[in-house]
Amino acid sequence: MAESLQSQLRKHLVALSAAGVEFVPIAPPAPVRLFQSSPNESAPDPDADRRRQLQTVASEAAKCDRCAGLFATRTQVVFGGGPMSPDILFLGDAPGADDDRDGHPFRGEAGALLDKILGAMGLSRAEVYLTTAIKCRPPRNRPPTADECGNCRGYLDRQLELVRPRAICCLGETAARALLGMSGNIRTLRGQTHDHAGTPVVCTYHPQEVVQNAALKRPVWEDMLRLLKLLGRTPPPKS
Ligand code: SF4
Repeated sequence: MAESLQSQLRKHLVALSAAGVEFVPIAPPAPVRLFQSSPNESAPDPDADRRRQLQTVASEAAKCDRCAGLFATRTQVVFGGGPMSPDILFLGDAPGADDDRDGHPFRGEAGALLDKILGAMGLSRAEVYLTTAIKCRPPRNRPPTADECGNCRGYLDRQLELVRPRAICCLGETAARALLGMSGNIRTLRGQTHDHAGTPVVCTYHPQEVVQNAALKRPVWEDMLRLLKLLGRTPPPKS
């Protein structure tokens, strides 16, 4: 006699638990939220076609189950968002617990610090694009695996092609390695300008690392100054 659905389900849950999965959401996936700036409805939107294509990519990601462990535990896919053609796109490694709950990247303590850094640069969250190398939260906020980064790479590549930032800033070693396909650590990756498909890339520490080690504030600020210089911008005077 065929194994009962109840028995199959029990075995599946035991396997997920052994793999480190902490809970299985019972609600259907929430619709993906891009939180990108809305164009003025009365004016023609030159980016309308790119926005539509980006929404299509986000909708595909919202249903994605390529990473079985992440699909089973995520609350929602956190695609990221911001304006089209921004000066800077910030790339983290993966959504954290707060991001998974809210649907936006860089929430919580690390996000609050990123907001402060942006303010010191003369920017606001609404002026930059924020996203992550993988779009689903790994259980217990562990770093994404190389396989997960590979699975999600197609979404990231299409996102970058459509958003067209003037510069990319990788936050943390995992994001930098995922984007650049390089094996160095963040100490060797920062301090130079890399290239991704013709777009300059600057790497620095992840804000979460700075939250845990205040000594990293200075090198992060040096990296942000270099990023601003690349863009021909200067930070506002300190108030
Ligand atoms: S991390 Fe990316 S590839 Fe993996 S399940 Fe989520 S959307 Fe799909």
